[in-house]
Amino acid sequence: MQAEQLPVHNTISQAAALIRASDHVVAMTGAGMSVESGIPTFRGKDGLWTRYGQPPMDGFKRFREDPVGWWQKQVNRQMDAHMIELRDALLAAQPHAGHHALVTLERAGVLHHVITQNIDGLDLKAGLENLIEIHGNRSRLRCVGCGRRTSLGDFVPQEPPEPCDGCGDVVKFDTVMFGEPMPSDTMTAAREQIDRATCVLAIGTSASVRPASGLLWIAKSQGATIVEINPFETKLTSICDVVIRTTAGEALGHLAGMFTQSAAERPDGPVSEVRYGA
Ligand SMILES: [Zn+2]
Repeated sequence: MQAEQLPVHNTISQAAALIRASDHVVAMTGAGMSVESGIPTFRGKDGLWTRYGQPPMDGFKRFREDPVGWWQKQVNRQMDAHMIELRDALLAAQPHAGHHALVTLERAGVLHHVITQNIDGLDLKAGLENLIEIHGNRSRLRCVGCGRRTSLGDFVPQEPPEPCDGCGDVVKFDTVMFGEPMPSDTMTAAREQIDRATCVLAIGTSASVRPASGLLWIAKSQGATIVEINPFETKLTSICDVVIRTTAGEALGHLAGMFTQSAAERPDGPVSEVRYGA
């Protein structure tokens, strides 16, 4: 599409114009956002599954069959090698310029909600307030029965957690496992945001993991404008109004700068000189 031919700073100006014309702006972030904080993806050239092989896709079923055995493997570091690498990366990760820029946009009143597919908690760590973690958060536990969540913070469980206080059912990480139904509260909240959205920023998402990706097509069908921020072409590209072909850290940093510069400086100042983030 034509937008792809333009230099990055032109597409950022176009995105800023769409955002200014919108009264409810929602961002959806995917694995590409986390990569810039050193968290490996599953798929792709350097992905965990590419290097270690794709694990069975029935993780939730196996957890339900033997939750105590599952937790014993966790606390004794007997999980699959790719899960150990992922856990260690999650523990070490810090928010990058893109996360801080989302916070800047939120505080400037131009970004109203973020739906993330990532489980790293880096949006919260950066200080984002209006956030839906659609695939859960690794630093929380969640009861399989009643859905009650408890925060672990930086604590790494050393033994299997007790059953739920409220209903007695088993407790797992809040992270949505393969084969596990999406928690209905977060899906409902995400759908409400998509229904209100007049502009959606699709950031670092390959738009291939359902049901989260379906929300982007719903937004488009309901008349929202779509801005893609991704170094790579995706399934979403053809329906986007503006495509910014660079990393989340760079694009969001420049975008945030356009909303925090003085009126005299914007909108045509050189983006390379824009200051942004925390
Ligand atoms: Zn419960």
